[in-house]
Amino acid sequence: MNIGLVAHDSKKKLMQNFCIAYRGILAKNNLFATGTTGRLVEEVTNLTVHKFLAGHLGGTQQLGAQIEQNEIDLVIFLRDPLTPKKNEPDVNNIVKICDQNNIPLATNLATAELLIKSLDRGDLEWREMYK
Ligand code: PGA
Repeated sequence: MNIGLVAHDSKKKLMQNFCIAYRGILAKNNLFATGTTGRLVEEVTNLTVHKFLAGHLGGTQQLGAQIEQNEIDLVIFLRDPLTPKKNEPDVNNIVKICDQNNIPLATNLATAELLIKSLDRGDLEWREMYK
């Protein structure tokens, strides 16, 4: 499965720790991330991540385009709801595109853990039918 990863600055450390904790599951899948998130995940996990541009340089839009093309099966987007973002419309767009395309989306750690365990159990096999 193709997993999209994005973390706002205040959540990047959390994303790194999440990826360390679930490294075994993530390693069995393909990872796509906005630039900085992807680099930071690679640094601590040694996983290979396909990195888009940095979020504010268009990476969020690139990930959005992948989702629209039905190439992402699951998105983990650790967002900081309290700090306004320069690229806020793109960021909101990820949520909108996931909802439009019925793509499982986690926006906090608790849901991210549920989704990743669910993925490992095979609960997302239905995504294969949509490709
Ligand atoms: P980044 O993008 O991973 O390149 O920082 C995400 C964001 O814009 O917060």
